Amino acid sequence: MSNYDIVIVGGGLVGNSLALALSHSSLRIAVIEAIDYEQKQDHADDNRAIGLSYTSERILQKLGVWPHLENKAHPIDSIHISLQGRFGVARVLAEEQGLPSLGCNIDIYYLQKILAQNVRAQETLTYYAPYQLTHCERVQDRWQLTLTAGESQKKISARLLVAADGSDSWVRRTVGIQAQVWDYEQSAVVAHLTLNRSLNNRAYERFTQQGLMAVLPTGNNTATFIWSTTHPQAQEAQSGSEEALLSIVQKAWGYRLGRLQKMGKPVIYPLRRLHAHEVYREGVVLIGNAAQTLHPVAAQGFNLGLRGAMVLAEVLQSAQRMGRDYAETAILAEYADKQAGDRKQIAHFTHFLVNRFSLEKQGYSHWQPLALGGLEWIPGAKSLLARLGLGGGQKALWV
Ligand SMILES: Cc1cc2nc3c(=O)[nH]c(=O)nc-3n(C[C@H](O)[C@H](O)[C@H](O)COP(=O)(O)OP(=O)(O)OC[C@H]3O[C@@H](n4cnc5c(N)ncnc54)[C@H](O)[C@@H]3O)c2cc1C
Repeated sequence: MSNYDIVIVGGGLVGNSLALALSHSSLRIAVIEAIDYEQKQDHADDNRAIGLSYTSERILQKLGVWPHLENKAHPIDSIHISLQGRFGVARVLAEEQGLPSLGCNIDIYYLQKILAQNVRAQETLTYYAPYQLTHCERVQDRWQLTLTAGESQKKISARLLVAADGSDSWVRRTVGIQAQVWDYEQSAVVAHLTLNRSLNNRAYERFTQQGLMAVLPTGNNTATFIWSTTHPQAQEAQSGSEEALLSIVQKAWGYRLGRLQKMGKPVIYPLRRLHAHEVYREGVVLIGNAAQTLHPVAAQGFNLGLRGAMVLAEVLQSAQRMGRDYAETAILAEYADKQAGDRKQIAHFTHFLVNRFSLEKQGYSHWQPLALGGLEWIPGAKSLLARLGLGGGQKALWV
């Protein structure tokens, strides 16, 4: 049996980022991941583009993965937010915020693959993929773990278990941590879009009567289209024709984006918010979507999860440097305290946007344009949006 100091369950975006952040420590680290991202060949089942904040870009630089991602990322220099059929418009510009860019957009397929390849390449990390954690048991101060891949099983042990296993976290449920869930009764429809002109590094968000639509540039005249809408409308968008969906989108935007030319096959993601009541227990700590899952309206789920992972890496390494026990509950509490403000602020900000703007609600519609007008004219309002939404609510320890 192999014994580790820390085992990270879930080598998705957040788990693998944490592993890379810890790869230069003297801790023995393993990652368990059910999906073989290195061998994955296409994007058909998950066609999302992830909007990375400028802070996240810098974190990925520190982790050494940015040179492999840079040529796959498309910069976002400005965001244009509008309401269908209303005057309220807000523009958030990188130069006004004193930033070289507001961030970038990258296909999740490359992000997952390149992170997995980098974790595998680190001699200091052990990467069990594709393996699923199927059993865990606390024996004295260690976790005894069983990993399964088809007929094959492995037994390993860990002092500290990090749950980075996503929204439905098996670890969170197994250790009995409760989570509050808000079902938005919405799905996101995501598809590749081709336009007849360049978006000039500008991302667009529009609050329409059918829900929020966003168009995020991925190339010269290509973009990712995301539409948060009701489940029936999402099903219809997926099962209907390309022409029918193009026509809905063109109608919602007019010709602000130029003429829409092609729409790829849409993929649907049911949307909900989740908030774990605790982010640690004895010998276990939660990060990323396992700790909190957000609506994608503000493109914050991974950005927040990444900052949380960097806070955890810093706290664990600093405990190690000071000769303290990294798995001690007081150390895990320090992580929870340091990340609590960011977690709360971003979750509330995102929830606010969903509740007030996403689907037109009676009684709110009259002040929606005022809210966007305010964003444009109230001094500091846009910086707040840029800071909360794009730069990160809390200055990351790593950048
Ligand atoms: C439509 C949509 C658009 C989005 N856009 C953005 C955006 O623009 N910007 C942004 O910041 N965020 C965005 N997000 C959110 C972002 O995708 C998530 O926050 C992020 O993927 C969470 O990463 P994670 O590693 O915590 O979880 P996941 O990505 O869910 O990874 C969890 C991993 O754990 C593995 N796993 C699970 N159980 C086990 C087990 N028992 N054993 C082994 N492995 C296991 C899974 O295979 C998976 O790889 C979006 C989300 C949606 C739905």
